[in-house]
Formats: sequence, structure tokens, C-alpha cells
Amino acid sequence: MQDKFKNKTQVPVSVQLELDFRLRTPSFDGTRWRMAERQTKPKMKKIQRISKSQYLKGVQCQKALWLYRRRPDLIPPVSETQQALFDMGHEIGNLAQDYFEGGVEITAPYNQTERAIEDTRKAIHDGNSIVFEATAASPDGAFSRIDIFRKKGASDTWDMIEVKGSTGVKNYHIDDIALQRFAFQGAGYTIEKSILMHVNNQYVRYGEIDVGQLFSLEDCTEVVRSRIEEVRPNLVQFLELLNKNQEPDIPTGGHCFSPFTCDFIGYCWQHVPEISVYDIFSGARLEGLLGQGILNIEDVPSEFGMTERQAIAVRSIRENRVHADIPAIGDFLDSLKYPLYFLDYETINLGVPLFDGTRPYQLVPFQFSLHVQEQKGGDLVHREFLHTDRTDPRPELAGVLVETCGNKGSVVVYNQSFESRVNRDLADAFPAYTGALLKINDRMVDLLVPFRSRSLYHPAMGGSASLKSVLPAFVPDMTYDDLAIQDGDMASVKYLKCIKGLVPETEKQEIFENLRVYCAQDTLAEVRLLEVMYQFG
Ligand code: SF4
Repeated sequence: MQDKFKNKTQVPVSVQLELDFRLRTPSFDGTRWRMAERQTKPKMKKIQRISKSQYLKGVQCQKALWLYRRRPDLIPPVSETQQALFDMGHEIGNLAQDYFEGGVEITAPYNQTERAIEDTRKAIHDGNSIVFEATAASPDGAFSRIDIFRKKGASDTWDMIEVKGSTGVKNYHIDDIALQRFAFQGAGYTIEKSILMHVNNQYVRYGEIDVGQLFSLEDCTEVVRSRIEEVRPNLVQFLELLNKNQEPDIPTGGHCFSPFTCDFIGYCWQHVPEISVYDIFSGARLEGLLGQGILNIEDVPSEFGMTERQAIAVRSIRENRVHADIPAIGDFLDSLKYPLYFLDYETINLGVPLFDGTRPYQLVPFQFSLHVQEQKGGDLVHREFLHTDRTDPRPELAGVLVETCGNKGSVVVYNQSFESRVNRDLADAFPAYTGALLKINDRMVDLLVPFRSRSLYHPAMGGSASLKSVLPAFVPDMTYDDLAIQDGDMASVKYLKCIKGLVPETEKQEIFENLRVYCAQDTLAEVRLLEVMYQFG
């Protein structure tokens, strides 16, 4: 199950995709770079330059920038899931280079700035008109590598092309490419266009990857020109800050997650209670409470304006009791039609599609678990499907699903938008199953709804309706903690390793077994939560 309701320690995919491609290179990955940085930058050495990724940290939070440079020991290790995202970014970066013919790459390691700058100048002097990983630094401390540096014909002007794994231009991309433009202009280059090259999510793969279709190029020159005015004052401020020994005193807040989930949550958030105002409120209400120094739910003033959903959560936490809207729960239970089919998918979604007929980031199911219950309180029958080779899992999965889901009774899922979207894509791709798959969608009942709407709310849910939050709150004897695979992202990463042949056969079989256990746990969790609802309904 892809858990849409992440807790505060998890890192969204979109964030990872924005990380600098240099951190993803297998020859010099993020972990080793950080280690090298620790070894080569004595604490007292004056900091005179900051890179693009550091600049972005500073724009988000100056304390994050300071900690990154001055306390690298606090940077958490790169997880297997994060590394998989770095690897995907690296793959996208390589394909982006294929888009441009005849380029030369600057290969100096990331921490050898002067060599990279010199190699870039030499590559240009030698007449190269496309330079990958071109590097420059401005005298006032901006340092940048650009994915593609492209000369404009016979002129002495250049276009800068930054590659992103996202499917569009985001606001923070503009800060990113503004810093790059500033660095190269400051180094003496004449820049014409600032272009963002991102993944085209309308591309459909057939055969070899068509890089001409996989990417879209968007000219961001005008908006970058307006943003570039902010770069110099920011740089001055950031460098001054970095050369102070005093850690900046910046309180936690919504900025800790926007636009990126900060690396230092574990350090800065130690004073934040396990369940706090962050879990219940957002936007102006959250800022209002934080402004009053209120973190504990118990301290929220009784007259504080809040929505009904927020009021339910606050009351439940304060009184430490379950809230149950009996009529609403009854209506939900009345909507169920037996036999019940408790369904859950595991999927992969890759920036570079793996199979013919799929788009970038399309959800491609490779596994499902199905618990079937003929009548209320009746025995459970478990069915499952796991595709175990490199071929497209969808046709076989669709056939088995249609066969095992029958044609009557409710199909119970947790977060219907996810499962129904997978079914719609399958229905589009495989006409033989279109009618049956759409009928399965018509039969779907979303078990998430009563928890998200807070018809049933447990104080231990901490404001989250995620299955991983709801289950331990209501069914404490059932946990994911002991499972080798504990979430959908990890399931996807492990599965990809298997089908790409990156693990030995014995480990592969072990992973497949762990996947079966994990997916079955998700549908069994749905069964148990429905039992909980019957206790109230
Ligand atoms: S956790 Fe928040 S306050 Fe701390 S460094 Fe990160 S963004 Fe800044």
C-alpha cells in the first residue's frame, strides 16, 4: 500500500527527486560526499562559497544551511529508499545527456571545485558547444554545476539547461536556476536562456526509451531574471551566517517541510511532543498557535477557532478517549455488501517507464492481496498475486484479479483513489478486462473515509488517517514493526531490485516472501479495522 499520509519523519518522493544529480552518481554518492566533506573541511576554515543545493537549503531555512555545513554529523544516513530515488535521478540525468548529441562531460569529483571549473574552461576553449556538468563560481561565492551548458550557434552566449525528475516547473526550481545563472554570469559567461528540462508525463514507452519524447524543455528565462535579484543579498547573508560559530536560533514551523522535508527534523524537533499541534492544524491556525508558543494539544485555548474535524481530534486527545459517531459508522457499515473482498495493491512508479504502454510515474501494480469474507464474522480466505519476473506484471495481474474478485459484494480498500486509479489504468490498457475492472471500481468501499472524516477517531492516531497510524491505535496487537518490509515505498524498492537482478537468488526469494507477508498484512489490517467498526456501529 502506498501510504499517502506520511508521518513527519518520512521524506516525500518529490523532495528526493529534486536533490542534486551529483549526489546520485554511483562513483561518488551522497554518503561518501558527505564523509569526504567532513574529512576535508576543518570547522574553522572560512566558508567562501556555497553550492546550489546549499543555497536552496538557506532559502528554506538558514539554520538548515548552517547545520548542513557546520554540523554534518547530524545529517541522517541515506536510506535504501532514498538511494533508490537518487539512482532514478541518475538514470534520468544520463538519459537527458543522450538528448544532446556530441556533449563532453566534466567528470571532476564534486569536491574538486577548482579542477571542475578549470576543466570547464578548457572544454569550452577546445571548441565544445555542449558541456555536461559545466562548473563555475562567481567571485561573491556562488558555486554551480549545470547539467547541460549549450552554446548558441557561433555566438559567445550560452543556454543553461537544468534537468529535473519532476513532471513540471516548481517555484523552488526558479531559486535553483537563478543561483546557477548568477554563478555563471559572475564567472564571466554570457547567458541567454535558463531552461528547465523535466520529465514529460504524457510520454508512453514503446520499445527503447525515446529521449526526445521523455523530456519537456521549458524556458524559464524571464521568471529567473526577476528572481536573480534575490541571489546576491541571500548569498551575503548566508556566507556571513556560515562563518559564525553560533547556531542560528530559528524555531520549528511549517517551513521544516516546505518545499523539502528537512534533514534536521530529528535534531530540531526533539522538544515537539509525539502528538502536537502540527498533527492537527495547518496554515494560519498552526502558525497562530506556534506564535503563542503552543505545541501541546492540551494547551490549545478552548475558544480557539477550529474546524469540526480538528475539534474532534482535540477533544479526543484532551479527554484521552475514542470519538465515535455511531450513526455515521452505522451508515458506513450498512453500505457494505457481502461477500467482502479486502483488496490492496503494491506498485512501482518510475520516472523512466519500464514497460511498453506505460507512462513516467504511472502506478504499475505488481502484487495484490485479497482477503475474502463471505459473511459478517465469517472465515477468511486469502488470495494473492505476485509477479516474479522482469516482464510486465499487468496483464496477468488483471486477469487473476478479475477472476478472484467475483462479480458481487463490496471491494474494501484503504484509500480508494489509489486502487481505483490503478484499475482505471489497467482497464485502459487491457480491453479484455475493461468492463470487469470498472465494475470492481463500482463495488469499491473506502475504509479510509470514516477515519479521515473522524467518524471514528482514536487519540493515538495523532491526526493521521494513514493505515499505519490507525491500525496500531485501534489494534495494538497488530504491528508492522516486526516486518522486513514496512511500507509501500520499501516494497517497491525491494521488488525492483529483484526484477532487475540486483540481488542473488536466495535473497530474491526472501524478498518475495517478505512482500507477500507485507501485502497480506495490509488487507488483514482492513479486516481487523472493520471488526473495530462493528464494535461501534
Ligand atoms: S528542522 Fe526546521 S528549524 Fe530545524 S533546520 Fe530544519 S527547517 Fe530549520
